[in-house]
Amino acid sequence: MINDIKKIYGIEDSNLTISSVSEGTYRNKPAKIIKASYKPKTIACPNCDSSPRECDGKYVIVKNGSKEVEILLTHENTGIVSMKLSKQRYRCRNCNKHWTAQIDLVKPCHNVSRIIEGKIIELLGERISLKLIAKLCSVSISKVIQVLKSLEIYLPSPKNRWLPEVLMVDEFRSHTAIEDSMSFICADGNSGRLVEILESRRLNYLMPHFNGYPDEERFKVKYLVTDMNAAYFQLVKDIFPNAELIIDRFHIVKHLNEAFNSFRVREMKKLKASGHKVEASKLKKNWRFLLKNRLDINISEYKRWPSFRSNKYPYLTEQMMIDRLLDFSEPLKLAYGYFHDLLDSFRRKEYERFFELLNTLPEELDEEFKGQVQNLIRHQEGITNALIHPYSNGKIEAKNTHIKTLKRVSYGFKSFSNMRIRIFLTEGLIEVNH
Ligand SMILES: [Zn+2]
Repeated sequence: MINDIKKIYGIEDSNLTISSVSEGTYRNKPAKIIKASYKPKTIACPNCDSSPRECDGKYVIVKNGSKEVEILLTHENTGIVSMKLSKQRYRCRNCNKHWTAQIDLVKPCHNVSRIIEGKIIELLGERISLKLIAKLCSVSISKVIQVLKSLEIYLPSPKNRWLPEVLMVDEFRSHTAIEDSMSFICADGNSGRLVEILESRRLNYLMPHFNGYPDEERFKVKYLVTDMNAAYFQLVKDIFPNAELIIDRFHIVKHLNEAFNSFRVREMKKLKASGHKVEASKLKKNWRFLLKNRLDINISEYKRWPSFRSNKYPYLTEQMMIDRLLDFSEPLKLAYGYFHDLLDSFRRKEYERFFELLNTLPEELDEEFKGQVQNLIRHQEGITNALIHPYSNGKIEAKNTHIKTLKRVSYGFKSFSNMRIRIFLTEGLIEVNH
């Protein structure tokens, strides 16, 4: 029966003897207490390496009483199980060193079993708070943090650094006490596997970091997928000499949308100033329709529109409604046409047409709108590549959403290095043989 208990907890060490199991308390909480003693074979002195016995049979290492420790063994649904363990102590007669036998069940100087530590690590990989993990394992939060920190050795280090062919880079708000609160994240564009998280996205931080990678890893990178953040363009030139830039498709569309939206807002202000308040407010309420893909606009179904309640024409198609909106401003109507021509060629991946359009925008077009969209010409290579290759930053943005959840449950991550460990853990990138 007693030996079955050892089986249950996977502690079939023949030097461990269980003497009793009783009800009791562990740190003021009801618990089952296993009383046991641990008396392994005498080993050589860890200090002077003397053998337990000399040639003449004289004992050098002698037993020297025992030390009792209280270990948190497990926390099951049925409650806490702790162990009162009496460990053999030894003394070396040659050098007078004293020591206590160490059992595999717990790490030296720890009072929580490896079973519990394994459970803590497993729970750290879930998106739950440190407080809840501590509660579920009957340990303190500082114990949970101690276990988290102990995993740092499994993170990418200068020795095992690697880079993928397609490197997605992005940034996220890390809420740590650093001047620039934006941190840097990069991942494999093919598999989505996390490559690295760095405290700062600043170039003077990124450059030395990536320069620390072996040349063959840096030369492996063929594409760098990024938003239009100029800092990362510099990485391509200096750190990844074989890489071409890909601007994330989402950010290109976003740039076009923003240019058109800000022009619409300026036009609304003009309308208001010239006494056309009603028209301005209709443009404001229906702005989404102006961004809608022209191919998806309904041209056959007549319905009522809250902004166009005329008794004479109570029913309009979506297309008719949009046409009426555009009739409020000729300059906006002109921009609308070019804005959608650009989006259409972008969606169809016709990059030559896209840049031809950008380069031949007419004189009459609003100067500011034109300037904003023509900014894209500077990114011709990155945009062309985005339309040729299938890579985008979607996978990395999903990761950023996960980080946000993790940040919420962990109350803001006071320490960046703890956050980094936990992100690698939740990504399944830390394998611990516990
Ligand atoms: Zn010794």
